[in-house]
Amino acid sequence: MRIKNNSTLSIPELKPSFHGRVIGPDDAEYDKARAVFYGGFDRRPAIIVRVADTADIARVIALAHEAGLELAVRSGGHSNAGHSVNEGGIVLDLSEMRDLQIDVEKRTAWVEPGLTAGEYTIAANAFGLATGFGDTGSVGIGGLTLGGGVGYLVRKYGLTIDSLLAADILTADGELLHVNAESHPDLFWAIRGGGGNFGVVTRFQFRLHAVDMIMGGMLFLPAAADVIAAFIAEADSAPEELSAIANIMPAPPMPFLPAEQHGKLLIMAMLVYAGDPEAGERVIAPFRAIAAPIVDMVKPMKYPEIYPPEDDSYHPLAAGRTMFVDRIDRPVAETILGYLPTATGSMGVAQLRVLGGAMARVPVEATAFAHRASRIMVNVATLYEWPEEKSRHEAWVTDFAAALQQDDRGAYVNFLSNEGEARVQAAYPGRTWERLRRIKARYDPANLFHLNQNIPPASDGSRG
Ligand SMILES: Cc1cc2nc3c(=O)[nH]c(=O)nc-3n(C[C@H](O)[C@H](O)[C@H](O)COP(=O)(O)OP(=O)(O)OC[C@H]3O[C@@H](n4cnc5c(N)ncnc54)[C@H](O)[C@@H]3O)c2cc1C
Repeated sequence: MRIKNNSTLSIPELKPSFHGRVIGPDDAEYDKARAVFYGGFDRRPAIIVRVADTADIARVIALAHEAGLELAVRSGGHSNAGHSVNEGGIVLDLSEMRDLQIDVEKRTAWVEPGLTAGEYTIAANAFGLATGFGDTGSVGIGGLTLGGGVGYLVRKYGLTIDSLLAADILTADGELLHVNAESHPDLFWAIRGGGGNFGVVTRFQFRLHAVDMIMGGMLFLPAAADVIAAFIAEADSAPEELSAIANIMPAPPMPFLPAEQHGKLLIMAMLVYAGDPEAGERVIAPFRAIAAPIVDMVKPMKYPEIYPPEDDSYHPLAAGRTMFVDRIDRPVAETILGYLPTATGSMGVAQLRVLGGAMARVPVEATAFAHRASRIMVNVATLYEWPEEKSRHEAWVTDFAAALQQDDRGAYVNFLSNEGEARVQAAYPGRTWERLRRIKARYDPANLFHLNQNIPPASDGSRG
């Protein structure tokens, strides 16, 4: 492979050295290829390599070293911080590495990172099996898993990383390592929550669980403070089969919502009871009884139906903050209801996810995700239209989050935007941060993988 320096990088000369596609600014597909899920990241990489295999990934890593190009790693492209595209650098795009091997008897799956949560879920459901990912089908398995993975099976089967059995990872020096509890256990610990800091994961091995028919879907309730508090209390005391997400937001103009509700605050709850639908009916009854539902779409369904089809031309601009709280009682719910109408963007939302269950039983030090005791995750966000008004919307979400802050100062790495090192440290509290820094120093001492929620290598040379 002939490599010149960044300014004279020759795309036509590079193309034959890869099995996958090499896309440069002169290619017709360049604009589509550089777009990521969120709008507002109008960056122009020098080269995008849509890798086909591990050999391609190793070549991209070598290219980044030799040409001095900044490296962005992309699986599903949903990074909140726009980390999967850069200006003038190289984008390693894994979206076409999509192999999936399911071992039905052993209930395990090997999967390449280019598959999305929705695609994996549909494929596994053919065998009545599932691994828990997040709330959105188009999110990539790569980024979601490496940060932790909080979704509809979190209380029943834990985080996505709690079902991660092994991974293959190409490190900064181009070595392919097989990591699991016995092989490179330090690295296996670090990639379960530590994000893309340690190398490029070329495939993951997951445990599959028997999840087929569920009781689930959307339940719209009026957004009164008592209703919100009662909803959270109910979700907290429900059996672990139930995982609930409550979005407090203005009613979107959806045809199934009564026109007089459009624009008014309501609770759009997503409920999943991962068990026998008849038992699920009984568990969901108290939610339906909190207040007369505005619309009730909870029904028995095949698990993948929880991921509705998405419009891939949707690239919203959003400002968001993530945090954990210990309680959502009536006063906290009132604060939420007071803030939302003041949203600076076109729409404000507070998303509440009740945690606990299987996720909370994993010891804090077992993985790099250390928020096992956190009770409720809160994400506040506003969607907006004009990139130049970003700072106004960032200020609003910062104030909103500050108004909700309780004792838990932690943050979930996968929902962080560009908020500075103190917030990355909040994602890795206690001893986790220093341990991650030492492992980073061992596997990526020059910080090649820095376009992420970055963990700087330990500077004292300790790699223990
Ligand atoms: C609409 C939406 C809904 C979401 N819902 C949830 C949810 O319910 N639960 C939840 O836990 N999270 C959720 N997230 C957050 C999501 O988990 C993160 O944004 C995640 O990083 C996205 O992964 P990706 O592969 O799509 O993103 P990418 O932008 O492709 O990757 C993000 C980062 O991960 C790293 N990375 C990705 N793939 C690899 C790899 N193979 N090897 C090494 N590093 C890699 C890179 O550092 C990259 O910058 C949501 C995000 C969005 C936009």
